[in-house]
Amino acid sequence: MVDLHTHSTASDGTWSPGRIVEEAVRLGLRAVGLTDHDSVDGNAELVETGRTLGLPVVPGVEISTRWNGVTFHLLGYGIDPRIPAVKAAFDRLARSREARAPRMLARLQDLGVPITLEEVRAEAGTALVGRPHVARVLVRKGVVRDVQEAFDRLLGRGRPAYVDKDRLDPAEACQTIRRAGGVAVLAHPGLIEEDDPALLRPLLDHLVELGLEGVEAFYSRHTREQQERYRSLAVQRNLLVTGGSDFHEPGSGGPALGTGYGSLEVPDACFEALARLLKERRPELGPVLNPGL
Ligand SMILES: [Zn+2]
Ligand SMILES: [Zn+2]
Repeated sequence: MVDLHTHSTASDGTWSPGRIVEEAVRLGLRAVGLTDHDSVDGNAELVETGRTLGLPVVPGVEISTRWNGVTFHLLGYGIDPRIPAVKAAFDRLARSREARAPRMLARLQDLGVPITLEEVRAEAGTALVGRPHVARVLVRKGVVRDVQEAFDRLLGRGRPAYVDKDRLDPAEACQTIRRAGGVAVLAHPGLIEEDDPALLRPLLDHLVELGLEGVEAFYSRHTREQQERYRSLAVQRNLLVTGGSDFHEPGSGGPALGTGYGSLEVPDACFEALARLLKERRPELGPVLNPGL
């Protein structure tokens, strides 16, 4: 069993990348991937800890993009962030994320909820400031009961303190991943179908033209029926099948590392096929994907 979709303190998770690797070893996972939102900053620590503990790891990223009015996520596995065009794209996303926080706080101020950027920065620590950090400050100050309520009432899309962020369009996102030697995978198609059931197939075909190479069929919130359907959509198009939990923090009611909501079981074969493709494309990732050899 493997988990190829996790978030660390480099975006909005609570565990460091190293801790995620340690826990993956403890759980007996055969491999773990890190896919922080719009950030590759955690990948060095992931790779380092994987090497130390002898666990195969997959450095990655999760990029938010939009097509025909629906927001969806692309996973980029094995990308090399040193490539200038890639670095520029992530820097742009980081700047836009930083600019978003003060605008959110101004809206909260108008709503009579004064919290400061310093408080949010303190909450974020070394991570890029994002909505989850604002949400946690709101919980701490007793404005809302929990993070979910913060999103439902104030910070979620369409709510009064919501501020949209800059996104790469799907072509830019796929291109950025491919230019960096990476593999682009469509994340959690089930969430796209929740937004617009008719969109998935045309989106998938559009993305394949742009260089998509995989579909995340195994996912915490997918039913068994969805899992099978997405798997065959991928196989029909000659795409890789991947999977992961979308783990962010333990004990929060969200998905757990490896097992999601209890029944997730991503087969080792998902990792193995991805690793084969990545090793062909970026041979230097060999020791990261096979630290035992
Ligand atoms: Zn996502
Ligand atoms: Zn995610």
